[in-house]
Amino acid sequence: MNLRIEQGCPQCGGPVELTETDRLLTCSFCGIRNYLQGNGPFRYVLPMAKPLRTDSVFLAPYLRFKGTIYLVSERGLSHRVVDTTQAAAASVVGLPPSLGVRPQAMRLRRIDADTRASYLPRQIKAGAILTKAAAVGKLTVRTGEQLFHRAYIGESLSYIYLPLVRKRQGVFDGVTDLLLATPEQLSKTSLQGRSFQEAWQVRFFPTICPQCGAGLEGATDCQVMVCVHCHTTWSFAQEGLAAVDWRLVPGSAATRLYLPFWQMHARIPTLAINSFADFVERTNQPFLPRPLWGEQGMSFWVPAIKLRPKIFLQASRQATLSQWRLKPVTGRIQKLFFPVTLPEAEARQAIKVILAAAATAGPRLIFPALPQVRTTDVSARLVYLPCIDKGHDWVQPETGVAIGKNVLRLGRSM
Ligand SMILES: [Zn+2]
Ligand SMILES: [Zn+2]
Repeated sequence: MNLRIEQGCPQCGGPVELTETDRLLTCSFCGIRNYLQGNGPFRYVLPMAKPLRTDSVFLAPYLRFKGTIYLVSERGLSHRVVDTTQAAAASVVGLPPSLGVRPQAMRLRRIDADTRASYLPRQIKAGAILTKAAAVGKLTVRTGEQLFHRAYIGESLSYIYLPLVRKRQGVFDGVTDLLLATPEQLSKTSLQGRSFQEAWQVRFFPTICPQCGAGLEGATDCQVMVCVHCHTTWSFAQEGLAAVDWRLVPGSAATRLYLPFWQMHARIPTLAINSFADFVERTNQPFLPRPLWGEQGMSFWVPAIKLRPKIFLQASRQATLSQWRLKPVTGRIQKLFFPVTLPEAEARQAIKVILAAAATAGPRLIFPALPQVRTTDVSARLVYLPCIDKGHDWVQPETGVAIGKNVLRLGRSM
């Protein structure tokens, strides 16, 4: 379930509600449209039960992980959708280890320079929290068993701060007003905070096409915005908007939707995979490579949308194995384009997982090689594939990829 965040409009201050995956903000009061630009994970705070003097308020960091974890071990390829919020400040006595369902049940606020409180430092590394998230999802290996690969895909990482209030009687949970630690217990702990860090500040920028100046379009949770004026696509990068190289596979009169895929060109020297023919051979496909496939560079085709892991792998595998049927060309932005909700960086993370999923002889030949596998010369292109309406499913004719309409809808709240 997505978190709901209360957000003041950067122009008029009007209340806007966002979810944690939203990158675009549209104000219904003044009509302004902005995109959010942050450095690293977004940071939110749980609402306090009652307003208090800020010099007695401490904010304890929790790290929230929501996404899919894939694990390749001797037992095969497994996956799970994990949603967990773990304490990242270890030394505070009485701090609940997890926030449970509180973040989902309450409306959070984004922290900013006006959130005056003392921020307790994070003492547990993000990597350790991810490992813990894998343990929560039971995606760990048994003793003596080999872990070949673990990947976190389509995740959102965010900080959620729990307000703590220091009074004479001890430290209280600022949301429930329950006593967490008595003054005696507290003497062993240090409540040493620091002030708001400039690097945490989220900025808002107008959604203007950097090339032609027209307004960009996109769903609130999109990772790529489109310009219907100059037919360009733009992703959110560290330094603002970055142009995305895009193509489409031409549809027919029956086309009702175009689903976006990341076409990830990559070579895998460790397995001597340079062409699609190499891939077909190394992964032991039940068909022979055609002569031309030796000249066709290898691409991993990754859905540019969030999907449940089973469907995600199925679609990736099928599109990757049918890549010789796909002939992307340049084109114009269409109304039928489905929004990109999985960023390119996540598609890169997926390459080794798709390699494992596509390997028919996987367990024997490919899995043990995964720890050594490095991809080189990786480049990405966004390709929209035409789909036809088959009742409950969208079907992509060239590849046979079929995605349930409800699966597509549900993926957006993952
Ligand atoms: Zn406004
Ligand atoms: Zn433009």
